[in-house]
This record gives sequence, C-alpha cells and structure tokens, in this order.
Amino acid sequence: PAMLGILGGGQLGRMFAMAARSMGYRVTVLDPDVQSPAGSVADRHIRAAYDDEGALEDLASGCAAVTTEFENVPADSLRFLESRTRVSPSSACVAIAQDRILEKRYIAGAGLAVAPFLAVDAPQDLAGDLAPLLPGILKTARFGYDGKGQVRVATPEDVHGAFEALGCRPCVLEKRLDLETEISVIVARTSAELVRTFPVAENRHEAGILDVSIVPARVTPDIAARACEMACALAEAMDYIGVLAVEFFVLEEGGLVINEIAPRPHNSGHHTLDACAVSQFGQQVRTLCGLPPADTRLLSPVVMVNLLGDIWRDDEPAWDLVLSEPAAVLHLYGKASARAGRKMGHFNVLAETVDAALEKAEALKRALRR
Ligand code: ATP
Ligand code: MG
Ligand code: MG
Repeated sequence: PAMLGILGGGQLGRMFAMAARSMGYRVTVLDPDVQSPAGSVADRHIRAAYDDEGALEDLASGCAAVTTEFENVPADSLRFLESRTRVSPSSACVAIAQDRILEKRYIAGAGLAVAPFLAVDAPQDLAGDLAPLLPGILKTARFGYDGKGQVRVATPEDVHGAFEALGCRPCVLEKRLDLETEISVIVARTSAELVRTFPVAENRHEAGILDVSIVPARVTPDIAARACEMACALAEAMDYIGVLAVEFFVLEEGGLVINEIAPRPHNSGHHTLDACAVSQFGQQVRTLCGLPPADTRLLSPVVMVNLLGDIWRDDEPAWDLVLSEPAAVLHLYGKASARAGRKMGHFNVLAETVDAALEKAEALKRALRR
C-alpha cells in the first residue's frame, strides 16, 4: 500500500492517520515530539524538526504524497517537499493561511467580505485615523490560535499599547463586529470539478476556544447556502487542493463575513467522524490521493463538545459518564499530559433533533465538570 506523509503529530494528524490506515494506506508522521498523538498510531514516526532537510528528504522519498495538520509549518519545508513529491495543500495556499495579513488581503481580493481591517507592520502604520476600526481587536499576523495573540482595544492609545504588548510584531487591527453567531464550512477539493462541502456547523466559543459545534447550524437556508458558496469561491480562487476550513461571522444586521481560514481539517469538523457519510479526515486522504471527495451527507443532527484539560483533576475525568450514554461517541487524543486550555479529546452526541442533541451534550458536559 502507498505511504502517505503528514507534517505534525497532534490530534489532527492522529485522526488523519487513523482514517488513512483504515482506507488501506500506510502513514509516516514527521513531528519533533517523542510522544505525539499521531506518532503512536502511525506506521512510522520521524522525530525531527520541521525544517530538518534530512528528515524532509526522508519523508519525501518514502511517501507518495504529503500533507500537513497545522498551518505553521515553514513554507520553505513545503516547497522543498513539493520539489520531490505530491503535496497538498500547496505551499502557496499554506503561506496565505499562516499570515492574517496575506489571508485577509487574499480573501478581500477574491471579492469576499472580511471585517474592516488595517495591516500593522510598524508603529507608523497606526498614524492615521483609527476610529473607524474601534472598538477593535489587535491580532498577531502569525502563530495565533485559540484566541492567543489577540488584544481587545477601545481607543487609539489601547492600540499602541497592545501593539507593544504583542512584541511589535506584524499585526492586524480588526473592527469588532456584533455577531449573531459563528459558523464554519469545510470544503474538500480535488480539482475544479471535484468539490464538496460539509453541512454548515454553528460554533460556540468559550474564552476564545471552540467549545461546542452544532450541526446543522441554526441559520437561515439562505445564510447556509451563501456560506457554502463563499467557501467554494475562495477554494476556487486559491486553486486549493485538499481540505479547507472557512470560519464565518454571521452579523446581527444579517451580513456574512469570513473570519479566517485553516488549510486543514478543523476542530469544528470533528462531528463528521460520526455524523457524516465521510469524515473530514477521510476527505483529507481522498483529496491528497487525487480521489474524488466522498458524499458529505449529514446522517443525523449532532453536537460536538471539546474536552479541554481544564476538567482533569488528579485523575482522568469519569469517561464512563460519556461511554454509558448510547447517543454519545467519545474520542480521546492520547496526549501525555493535561493542562488548562489543551484539547484532550471531544465527544459527539447524535439525536433526532439538534435541540435534543444539545440538551444531552450539555448534561454530559456538566456531569464531567463535577
Ligand atoms: P482559532 O483557534 O479558531 O484559529 P484564532 O486565535 O485564530 O482562533 P479568531 O478566530 O481570529 O482567533 O478569533 C477568535 C474568536 O474571537 C472568534 O471566533 C470570535 O468569537 C472572536 N472574534 C475574533 N475577531 C472578531 C471580530 N472582528 N469581531 C467580533 N468577534 C471577533
Ligand atoms: Mg485561527
Ligand atoms: Mg478562529
């Protein structure tokens, strides 16, 4: 069987490896950690830095195709791999997704709505009138996730202070919008003709981290259709091959804007493991191998709940609470240690209606926290 490679050994790499292996492929993971969630389920684990040329050479020569599970791989490493084997998504697409300034300019350039923003490379970029962007959020252009690297700002003085607090690194100042809700669309694209989207997810965050995804999203059919169209239009504009996640803001006044993208499967797509005809990781394998994306049909209303390290005490949480609920499916990532804010696993609750799924999910959540 063909060997597939993945850069990154976190939970997304692990679920990719599990999907790939069950589809008959073998998997090599490149990750510097001795103990990574993906390493323990892969056929081979190369322990090296993401810019280690010997390791990249080894990965490329041993793999029919290589993908990534996170956007912060050095774009140079992907370019190196591209010169030797099939890589998806491309280094060009990952480079856009790993920098908020490039990302926002690219999305706006494709004619799609984003929040009003200002690219801030240096203090002099803040010299103009900032009032139209306030109150706002200053976000580092690179390496931010789970709300890290973001500061809420109300006045121009706040913005200057926040820019310094963030280390004077390139940032984006973004207008804070009044959100009705947040949704996401995951696209799988093998070619211009072979594109499918998963049903729209509605996402609730807690302290900047995804807490719960509800599917189907409780938005109008018009909003859901427009989100899918926008996600496909963006994938088309980028000539994106692979799985692309697109996060949206649904505005109180009814508009729809793209918040950000991720060049990989997404936390808000974990419900697909149990509630769709194919999972987002199955799609990642298929698009990587040039196969058509499979049917993404939603088989049941579903609610996904993230399990963060916060609920670990001296012991693991009482998983039997989840395991004894017939409507719930538990997924643990096998991480070595728990800490606050760390994603340790998730569970999906399937039910006749989203309301029923949400009710059961909330009850399980409460029980686990006790
Ligand atoms: P992720 O873990 O999804 O990559 P991130 O750190 O890249 O998160 P964002 O998605 O940019 O962060 O923002 C995190 C959350 O903060 C959003 O999901 C939203 O709830 C809120 N937020 C971000 N930007 C805005 C905005 N312009 N207006 C209102 N709320 C916002
Ligand atoms: Mg992000
Ligand atoms: Mg986000």
